[in-house]
Amino acid sequence: MGFATDAIHAGQKPDEVTGAVITPLYLTSTYAQEELGKNKGFEYGRTHNFTRAALEQNLAALEKGTFGIAYASGLAAIHALMSLVKAGDHVIVTDNVYGGTYRLFELIMSNYGLSYSWVDTTKPENILAEIRPNTRMVHIETPTNPMLSLTDIKAVSAICKEHGLLLVVDNTFMSPYFQNPLTLGADIVTHSVTKYINGHSDLIGGINITNNATIHERLRYIQNAAGGVPSPFDCWLTLRSTKTLAVRMKQHNENAQKVAQFLLTHPKIADVIYPGLPDHPQHKLAKEQMSGFGGMVSVNFKEFTDVQQFLKKLKIFTLAESLGGVESLVCHPVSMTHGSVPKEKREKFGLTEKLVRLSVGIEDAEDLINDIRQAIA
Ligand SMILES: *Cc1c(COP(=O)(O)O)cnc(C)c1O
Repeated sequence: MGFATDAIHAGQKPDEVTGAVITPLYLTSTYAQEELGKNKGFEYGRTHNFTRAALEQNLAALEKGTFGIAYASGLAAIHALMSLVKAGDHVIVTDNVYGGTYRLFELIMSNYGLSYSWVDTTKPENILAEIRPNTRMVHIETPTNPMLSLTDIKAVSAICKEHGLLLVVDNTFMSPYFQNPLTLGADIVTHSVTKYINGHSDLIGGINITNNATIHERLRYIQNAAGGVPSPFDCWLTLRSTKTLAVRMKQHNENAQKVAQFLLTHPKIADVIYPGLPDHPQHKLAKEQMSGFGGMVSVNFKEFTDVQQFLKKLKIFTLAESLGGVESLVCHPVSMTHGSVPKEKREKFGLTEKLVRLSVGIEDAEDLINDIRQAIA
């Protein structure tokens, strides 16, 4: 089936009891058992929930995967992945990942005997150089937040296969609509469902997706044992959202391209970072491994004073953390999402106070451009 068809139907069929077209919302913590040892396959809400299972199947289908394991947040999903490795193990990570991933790995998990190397994965050979006898996993984010630099998933997958390493790809920025890492050789895809997949800025969620039955079995065990599960209501809302994922992503992409093009021409802007622009350093790779360029645009202003004014004067773009919703947001990564990344570290990959990140929504592109024009003036 095509993406839009799967988005609307995968994991869902009319309810057997009533014929309800929409998957019911099962708000229950426990299930009646007929007699000792006899139940309908449902015992307790942390372990089994029908609405959650429908969402897991739906998202797995969209990522061309077999198994989905859902969590209460994107970070809970990434945290669960850390239970696939153990004390003494080493993990290689893209240097410019989401700030919360950096904080989880470096400030929490490192206290439990895990070690991390922060690597510029835009050059796959940098990964090769960091592999140690105890390396077990490579965790990449592509495109990265907020620098929008890309990692060649196929090339990294070849390295991982040769060295017996698990490859995890955080695909939050592209959504399954524009990029499917499992088809490029990744073992696990992780998403903050909070962003494009849900797309309406009204819940927090996460998912891990894999084709590997052994990994699935372990992650399913961890999901129940550690318990970071999403609420049935959030799963139901997300199922409602994925039905429009295809149309939303097309519009995000179209609007972002227009906004990027407009910003390129503005004298107060030093540079515009968007994988869909021919002068993006990895535009060629972007065209190969993604089927679109997404809705995120980062811009470097020439002067910080202009940044302050811009953020204050925008009317349609809301100054807020997060991204991927239908409404346009603007964020200042250094003081917001990436506050926990040390200055020397972030400046190495070019993240300074002059950088502004736009999550371009699906409003009328003309209104978005007019808003930027008046705020920048
Ligand atoms: C937001 C985000 C996360 C964390 O997800 P939450 O749902 O906020 O826990 C992880 N990775 C990326 C790329 C993100 O943008």
